[in-house]
Amino acid sequence: MESQLKYRKRMDAIFKNVRSRGYKFLMEHESKEVLKIYTIPTTRERLAVDANDAIKSANTIGYPVVLKICSPRIVHKSDIGGVIIGIHTPKEVKEAYRKIIKNMSAKAPEAKILGILVQEEVPKGFEVIVGAVRDPQFGPVVMFGLGGVFVEVLKDVSFRLAPLTKNEAFKMIKETKGFKILEGLRGEKPADLNALTGVITKVGEIITDLPEVMEIDINPLIVFNKGLVAVDARIIIKDRL
Ligand code: ADP
Ligand code: MG
Repeated sequence: MESQLKYRKRMDAIFKNVRSRGYKFLMEHESKEVLKIYTIPTTRERLAVDANDAIKSANTIGYPVVLKICSPRIVHKSDIGGVIIGIHTPKEVKEAYRKIIKNMSAKAPEAKILGILVQEEVPKGFEVIVGAVRDPQFGPVVMFGLGGVFVEVLKDVSFRLAPLTKNEAFKMIKETKGFKILEGLRGEKPADLNALTGVITKVGEIITDLPEVMEIDINPLIVFNKGLVAVDARIIIKDRL
């Protein structure tokens, strides 16, 4: 109970901070703080304030790393050259840092940059999307889909009202065409569906528990044969309660 109160205070502080900036969305690292409170695994990462700081962070995290722009203005980071993956050496960290800053001054010159997020590069796995919205008519709704063309082109997604059980979450996964892929094609090892149903139910809990949350998006969530990790996350909150 006491720790729940502590978490509640931490989340209130994040939400207040976001509103004071005049924006409605939490940056990736802030969104992941909320996920962590709900025990959803997230990437190891650190916010660096200059290139040398980024090298220090990368050395601590371990290579390969990914560098990502961290700005309260920028929602879709890779659209404007704000994500560089496959960085293997301190020299590459420095180059990537400079490249991202350069891309920002060209494509989003007005955006205030808080720093660059240095993050572990996650190995290949099944890329899925888990999200939730607060529908004005139906209330909180959870969404699941396989990433990439499955969501973008085929609209292969399923929905459920939140909160939901792990059993219902499993049915959601099974309803998508992507399910066959997650079960493992041609001798490939299957995705950890137990861990995945866990994340879907937890996202349902987050939007049910926190009335200020309007939208959650984990895109991608990378699922392995054992375990998974949220690689990118975004939470949108109400202007005010
Ligand atoms: P965006 O704001 O553009 O959605 P993301 O953080 O999702 O930015 O990064 C874009 C893509 O880069 C992801 O969809 C994923 O394929 C890849 N990526 C990002 N971070 C990592 C990581 N830590 N490890 C492996 N791949 C990553
Ligand atoms: Mg993303």
